[in-house]
Parts: sequence; structure tokens; C-alpha cells
Amino acid sequence: MKEESKKLFINKETGWKNITPEQKQEIFKLSEEYMQFLNKAKTEREFIKEAKKLADKNGYTDIINKKELKPGDKIYFINREKSMYLAIIGEQNIEENGLHIIGSHVDSPRLDLKPNPLCEEGGFAYFKTHYYGGIKKYQWTTIPLSLHGVIVKTNGEKIEINIGESEKDPIFTITDLLPHLAQEQMEKKLKDGIGGEDLKILIGSIPSDDEKASEKIKQNILSLLNEKYGITEIDFNSSEIEVVPAFKARTLGLDQSMVAAYGQDDKICSYISLAAMMQLQKVKNTAVCILSDKEEIGSMGNTGMESHMFDFFISEILNKLGINKPNLLDRIFCLSKMLSSDVDAGYDPIYESVSDTLNAGYLGKGIALNKYTGARGKSGASDANAEYVAWIRNILEKNNIKYQVTELGKVDIGGGGTIAYILANKGADVIDCGVPVLSMHAPYEVTSKYDIYEAYKTYEAFWKE
Ligand code: MN
Ligand code: MN
Repeated sequence: MKEESKKLFINKETGWKNITPEQKQEIFKLSEEYMQFLNKAKTEREFIKEAKKLADKNGYTDIINKKELKPGDKIYFINREKSMYLAIIGEQNIEENGLHIIGSHVDSPRLDLKPNPLCEEGGFAYFKTHYYGGIKKYQWTTIPLSLHGVIVKTNGEKIEINIGESEKDPIFTITDLLPHLAQEQMEKKLKDGIGGEDLKILIGSIPSDDEKASEKIKQNILSLLNEKYGITEIDFNSSEIEVVPAFKARTLGLDQSMVAAYGQDDKICSYISLAAMMQLQKVKNTAVCILSDKEEIGSMGNTGMESHMFDFFISEILNKLGINKPNLLDRIFCLSKMLSSDVDAGYDPIYESVSDTLNAGYLGKGIALNKYTGARGKSGASDANAEYVAWIRNILEKNNIKYQVTELGKVDIGGGGTIAYILANKGADVIDCGVPVLSMHAPYEVTSKYDIYEAYKTYEAFWKE
């Protein structure tokens, strides 16, 4: 009977069971590399900068510097320092086989400085912010924050900002009301407890000794910025400065089985797919890795996946292979296969009521495939065809990769979206595929080291297929 049930039922055991000490070492090693990368890459610009370093080191060339391409060539294209596409040209005819694409995003929820951010109120200087992506505002108060980004002057000079990551740096924070005086605040709905305009970063309190200054603390901050970066207040108008948690990525748990870090949505899939691509050598089908921007706010704009920049990259490949002709790009997309590699909601027993436990993604049970995303009645979903799901299952099973096919939350409760629909709308076969996360979009997100390793194996197997 026991044998028969083993044969008939889905195996829902944790992946940690039957792991050898050697495998565990491998799993922990990959997570260590991932955490080190995360600590250098908290924003999309930092991620792309680090990704370029890795690509250059591993024999990839900017496609702009290539006159022609041939099978085996490794290339990339960087779009405005915020998104990047990489490819290895396959041995097989691209016209007949399309591409094998893995796409993820490198932007994460955060607070952006407003274009005119600096203000003085009641003896303090603040930076005003506009939050980016879906956040629970109360989670962003009373935690250490750092500033990352660029200020571009009218002469084109670009100043890079990174304050709050080094132990020697100051950090910043957003204050909250003491419980003693928070009766009224505590009566509010959780979503209204902290207002969007109240997400102001505390940055200073010393006044300048200029007796004539109207805002002495603001003036003192401006003098410090002018001294250090040569900027004045108006230069913030052409800046992109992001406020992110100053936490380091850390191993979580007495058994060291998990990773806690900011921005794992979706830098976990971005880094792991990038790492897998760096180890790829010859491939049958042209392998493409997308590191996209602006997913958290709808993939719009010229660095988001909705833009034509990706089409441009693939057209450039076809041009440089010397095979381009009318409609070839459309044909290639229609023949392509894609993993839209984005995180999944991990089942959290503290909040069990939002999950269908039969269809939830569990930490430690392997890579999670979402046949469809969307919300309430699959609205807006890209629903992978059963034939394609079977094709993916076959790859996973023959490579001994542990997987779970999941849904994001109960039917009437919610849902989510990724970049899957964008490539699916061009005609490619696409399935959502990623690592389950606890506390998604919070300043500190939690993942399982086991799933990270299974994700790596998945990406490698998909590209080698
Ligand atoms: Mn995501
Ligand atoms: Mn997200």
C-alpha cells in the first residue's frame, strides 16, 4: 500500500529530506555567493553594473562592439544602465527553433526621493519620498535606511550616491509615533496608519551659523552636499535617488536554511539566472537572459519590458548573424520558449487563511511554477498551455529537479503579475517560474536556500535543452 501511494500521489515532502552533506555544502555555497552579490546590488543600476562585471569576466561582449555573430558567441546589451539582455548564440538554426529565454526583473519596491526632496520642519531636515511599487508603508518606518542613486548635472557629469551601507557611513530612518501618544493612529486601518507624504527621511538637525539664512538646517545640509558633491538644490531635479533598507543579506535560522535580505523579489531570480548563464558554454538553442526594470510599477517606459528595446536587441542579433528579413522577428518570438522568472508567494502558516494549501508554494519544496497569475478570475493572466507545462515538467523530471505547480493565494483574495504576458503576447510559450518568498515586498524578505539551488538547476537545464 505504501509503495502504491508513493506511485500515485505527488511527492510533497520537503527537499531538505535526503540531502547529502556534500549537496548541503553546494546549496550553502551558492546562497553565500548570492548574498554577497545582493550586498553590492540593492538597486537596478547597481545590479546591472555588477552584472556587466560578471559578464565581462566570463567572456561576454557588448553587442555594439560586434560586427558579426556566429554560434557560441556571448553577447549583451545594456539599456540605460537599468536593464540588460544577455545571449549565447545557439548551434541550431534560430529561424526554426526560436529562443530559450529566461526573464526576470532587477527593480524592487522602495522609496524614491521626490524631484524637490529637501525640506526643513521643526528643527529637522528631511528628504521627501514617493514610494515605488506595492509596499506596506508602516514597514518602512523605524528601520535603518541607505541612499543609492545618481545625480546628473546639466553638463552631463554623473555623481553616484551610496550612503549608509559602509559601517563608517551614517544611516537614515523614518520616525513613527510613540505608542503612548498613538491612540488615534492605532484606531486607523493598517493601510492608513502611515500616510504616503509622511514617509520622510530624517537627514539632519544642525543649523548653519549663517544668521541671515531662513532655513538654517536645510542650508547646512546643502552646504555639506555642495562640499562633497559640488551640487546645489536644483540638481536634485535631475537625480534618481532610491531609499532602501540598510540591512545586509544574512543567513536566517539556527539550521542556516534560509536567506533574509532586501530586494529578493526579483533579484533572486535575476542573480541565479545570471549565475547559471555565466557557466553555460555551447547551447543548442540561442539562450537569452533578460534583466528587466520597472516590473514593480507595470513594466512601462524605455527600461521596462513593454518597451521595444528587447525587440531591438533580438533584431540586432539577426542583423549580425546576417539572416534578418521581413517578419523574421515575429516568427522567432512565436517559436520561442520562456521562463518568466519571478518570485512566488511562499506559504506562511501564520497567515494560512489567504492560501489554498493544496496549491500554495512552499519554502523548501523546490522551484515554483505558476501556470497562471492574474487576480480574481484569472483577470489579466498569462495562462501557460498544458502542452508547454508538460514540456517543462519533462525537463525538470529528467534532471531530478524538485518542483511545485502553484497559485498565488486563494481565488477571491488576490493575485499578482509578472512580465510573462508581455512575451506571451508576442507569441512565445511562457510560464511563470520562481522561488517562493515570505514577506514579499517587505524590507526584509525570506527565502529557502534549497529552492535557490533548485532554481539554478532549473535555469541551467532549460538553457541546455
Ligand atoms: Mn517580482
Ligand atoms: Mn514584486
